Amino acid sequence: MNYKRSSELFTAAKKVIPGGVNSPVRAFNAVGGDPIFIEKAEGAYLYDADGNKFIDYINSWGPMILGHAHKPVVDAVVEKAKKGTSFGTPTEIETKIAELAVKMVPNIDKIRFVNSGTEACMSAVRLARGFTGKEKIIKFAGCYHGHSDSFLIQAGSGAVTFGSPNSPGVTKGTAKDTLLADYNNLENVAALIEANKGEIACIILEPVAGNMGCIPPAEGFLGGLRSLCDQNDILLVFDEVMTGFRLAPGGVQERMGIAADIVTFGKVIGGGLPVGAFAARKEIMNYLAPIGPVYQAGTLSGNPLAMAAGLAMLTELDEQREIFKSIEEKTAYLHQGMEKVLVANNIPHTINRLGSMISVHFSEEPVTDFTSAANANNDTFKKFFHGMLDNGIYIAPSAFETWFITEALTYHDLDNTIKAVEAVAKTL
Ligand code: PMP
Repeated sequence: MNYKRSSELFTAAKKVIPGGVNSPVRAFNAVGGDPIFIEKAEGAYLYDADGNKFIDYINSWGPMILGHAHKPVVDAVVEKAKKGTSFGTPTEIETKIAELAVKMVPNIDKIRFVNSGTEACMSAVRLARGFTGKEKIIKFAGCYHGHSDSFLIQAGSGAVTFGSPNSPGVTKGTAKDTLLADYNNLENVAALIEANKGEIACIILEPVAGNMGCIPPAEGFLGGLRSLCDQNDILLVFDEVMTGFRLAPGGVQERMGIAADIVTFGKVIGGGLPVGAFAARKEIMNYLAPIGPVYQAGTLSGNPLAMAAGLAMLTELDEQREIFKSIEEKTAYLHQGMEKVLVANNIPHTINRLGSMISVHFSEEPVTDFTSAANANNDTFKKFFHGMLDNGIYIAPSAFETWFITEALTYHDLDNTIKAVEAVAKTL
């Protein structure tokens, strides 16, 4: 494939934007080469500035469950835009989407909208601290909760891809309040709680991790965390920015039957516009300003265009629940197809999947936490990534990411993807 125009656009971008990108995960540093500039997207496909067409497995890093430029979402945004783009006052649609979210997600009475997953997680932790009167938090190595200071401690996703899981600029004072545990390791968490008795406000985690590739929780892990939290007056925060409205209408809480105290959302809840949200039962949410002491705000929070896109998206997911089964079946089909061709070509690998999240690690060992994810063969991943791209398949340019399956993908697209994996496997 020819990427000439993308390279020209990248050269221009680098002069005025650091690294030429507005979010590091878009750069190709981890896999080599220049990033591809996308011109438009429709359904399951991306079209770049050189006119190349790709089957998309990034899907804006999760939100495009129904495919790109999905008509009801686009129509809702266009109609709303005609009436003005932001007022800085309450609007009815904010209540409508809040009512729908509260109906779909278990264990929440109230929800507040923000502009990104970062803001949602940052605010959730402040709320947990304000509510419990405690300061420390526990997070897991390889989990990513956005780029606010408390979370850039052994963070996953772009932070690890670009070599700054502990970013300069985060003060020692902030870092000392974030305690780090290994994913899927309950003993580790119990020991941290014991060593910091009465000081931990919350445990935050991706209940199915997607920022070190896809790593599902081990049997009993989430339930074990729930018990530890109950025994020690700690709030359990599920970061469902990737999993919310994707793994089930009510997210991981519904799917695994484990209740969280605070849940954060992003991506899907905005239908591809910049939205995040955090939610909890009312005694926790009532701690927020203007009725409670914990301050949190946003000029564009609950923005009408974003709410319109989100409401159109959630309404369709709520009314057509067979979509959840369908995307899961597609993901299982892809899993089986890729597994078969990678085995046939003797490529050491581990495919992890849960629902419509899936990833390939080039490692023979089970991938259950950050260490096992980091031990996979990154050189093989680089070749795999470029091979797939040249075969018209766009996956995230890092092994520390999950692939997202959209309902817009046809079985023909999945077969083409499996054929591409087969062709690339022969070259690895
Ligand atoms: N939490 C999780 C689980 C995420 O995957 C992400 C983004 N990939 C975030 C939080 C941060 O969201 P945003 O990029 O919208 O700030």
